[in-house]
Amino acid sequence: MNQTTHENTTQGRAGRMIECMRRSGLRVTPQREAIVRLLADDSSHPSAESVHARAALELPWMSKATVYNTLNSLIQAGVIQELDLGHERRFDGRTDEPHAHLVCRVCGRIEDVDLPEGFDIAGLADAGTGFRAEHVQVKLTGTCRACAAGPEASPSPCRRAGGHIQPR
Ligand SMILES: [Zn+2]
Repeated sequence: MNQTTHENTTQGRAGRMIECMRRSGLRVTPQREAIVRLLADDSSHPSAESVHARAALELPWMSKATVYNTLNSLIQAGVIQELDLGHERRFDGRTDEPHAHLVCRVCGRIEDVDLPEGFDIAGLADAGTGFRAEHVQVKLTGTCRACAAGPEASPSPCRRAGGHIQPR
């Protein structure tokens, strides 16, 4: 039952993404479709490397450069969104379902939290400052439940390293 629901959601999302690709005038090529289906089914917000690793299982001829180019054209067409974490780019297929990202600064995990209906931070900004937002992304940085459970459950990088830098 759950499996069916999951498949329906994933397939529905992939279908909407492919439709969005067509509307933006982007040709539906096998590599674009493979990456769209992969991202529609992956809630981990994968990096380009892990998108490539998974895509290569299905299309072994797909190079890293092709994956990067495909991801970039999908972003430009608004089919997927990019999360810039500073040290790496992560990718998300949930563009038409408004949600915020919770980024754990300890383990790097990214979780989605749905935004309430009518959440309009762009409207607030426009009314307050006249700023015309073209793109809205809500990101909260902090500690996930597992990492907050304590240093034993998930040691911080400092503790792992002993907390001191030994003078040479
Ligand atoms: Zn997301």
